[in-house]
Amino acid sequence: MAPVLKTAEELEIMREAGRIVARAHEAMRSAAVPGVTTKTLDDIATSVLRDHGASPCFLGYAPGNHPPFPATITASVNDELVHGIPSETRALEEGDIIGIDVACFYQGYVGDAAVTLPIGEISGSARRLLRAAENALEAAIHASVLGNRISDVAKATAKSAGRMGYSVAREYTGHGVGTAMHEEPQVPNWWPGKRSEVRWVNYELQVGMTYAIEPMLIAGRPDLKELEDGWTVVTKDGSLTAHCEHTIAITEDGPRILTLP
Ligand code: MG
Repeated sequence: MAPVLKTAEELEIMREAGRIVARAHEAMRSAAVPGVTTKTLDDIATSVLRDHGASPCFLGYAPGNHPPFPATITASVNDELVHGIPSETRALEEGDIIGIDVACFYQGYVGDAAVTLPIGEISGSARRLLRAAENALEAAIHASVLGNRISDVAKATAKSAGRMGYSVAREYTGHGVGTAMHEEPQVPNWWPGKRSEVRWVNYELQVGMTYAIEPMLIAGRPDLKELEDGWTVVTKDGSLTAHCEHTIAITEDGPRILTLP
């Protein structure tokens, strides 16, 4: 199925959905200090979404063999790459980094964005990793221009991360966003060589395409495993990870970020 191209009117609704997600992130950013639990951050996001007439996409989401996701946000601390489940017993500690992903439905459309936040003072190496994830996202957004393909976006992410000495997650990708949280195209963080068994459709970028780009950087080896909760993805070697994400639209004037405040 080819990517669904959005009209200017649809993009305005998606921009509003994205703005609500950005507001939830802002509210959580101010609350993300040592001692706060990941459940408290989840409660904050839940009320921001509710106050703006939006509903969480992750709550109850149960693809494949996964149990229904029980929260509004995914909260992934340190070696947890993505899909961490918020918990009343998980208090954040000084020096942690936490990846928070939020997606909402608003008037039938989705906004989806993630950030990784420092908790109190963090180490120099954690700071460098966070900056690298943001740089990789920026590079991928810059590559999201007419004339390019999805492979150019993926390569921009991988190249930016690689230059800083980090690996990227291979099993998880960005994705088209629209009336559903996951549409075509898949937007990977790397592009396989000809002999790889991995195959993604290498769409040419078109005006009206909307997708989430989400670099997932890993300080150590890119081998991952899922915990027994059926969701949380961690690095096998325990190394630190950082994840950030924006939903963007392809326009004639270049990429438009839909998930800014
Ligand atoms: Mg997301």
